[in-house]
Amino acid sequence: MVLNHARLPVPPLRHSYRFLIIPDSVLNQINFIFSYLEYSIRAYILMYMGVFSGKENNFKFCPMCAGPLRPVVLDGRERMACAGCGWIAFLNPPPVVCAVCYSPEGMVALIKRGVEPKKGAWCLPGGFMELGESPVEACLRELKEEAGIDSVGRIEIISAEYQESRRYGSVVVIGYAVESLDPDELCPGDDAEDAAWFYPMDIEAMPFESFQRIFELWLERYFPY
Ligand SMILES: [Zn+2]
Repeated sequence: MVLNHARLPVPPLRHSYRFLIIPDSVLNQINFIFSYLEYSIRAYILMYMGVFSGKENNFKFCPMCAGPLRPVVLDGRERMACAGCGWIAFLNPPPVVCAVCYSPEGMVALIKRGVEPKKGAWCLPGGFMELGESPVEACLRELKEEAGIDSVGRIEIISAEYQESRRYGSVVVIGYAVESLDPDELCPGDDAEDAAWFYPMDIEAMPFESFQRIFELWLERYFPY
């Protein structure tokens, strides 16, 4: 079996090697062993082997015409391009939003993450933007979905941060300060194990650097002493 030279996401392993011919029986055994490893461990092993790097150029076939892709250099970066229809894989970091939602007493709403990555860690409510949403709309939707908070007053942007992510490659995180008008609304959503108000001094480091940076910037702005 001759394998495509495109760099690919972790599974399935059989499509990931370049220019190798490996019997299906061997590949099945390797895939079987890999299926027992946690996703991030598999990603590390494959990255170490140079099979793929980050999340760049994960396409194998053109999503427009299903034609084969080949690497081209455009704007100083290697990208996958379709020889058939001319489609080029311009890849961008997906936008994430998060909320530093504060009560009238100056407490901050955190949720205990119920899903990977960083399951079980206390964190600002947040998540990926959906198509057709503005960043503020996405932030308020996530705040309601994850923390039950619906009645809000002032909303101000804090910062936009870049975050490397093992799972998603890289993401842009946009943080908002959101005033809660009814702290009793706080309750964990489907994706959260728990939700609670914290005094800022009691908040431990967030599991994501970008969320931590946004929280610290909010602290500096609202508690500059
Ligand atoms: Zn195409």
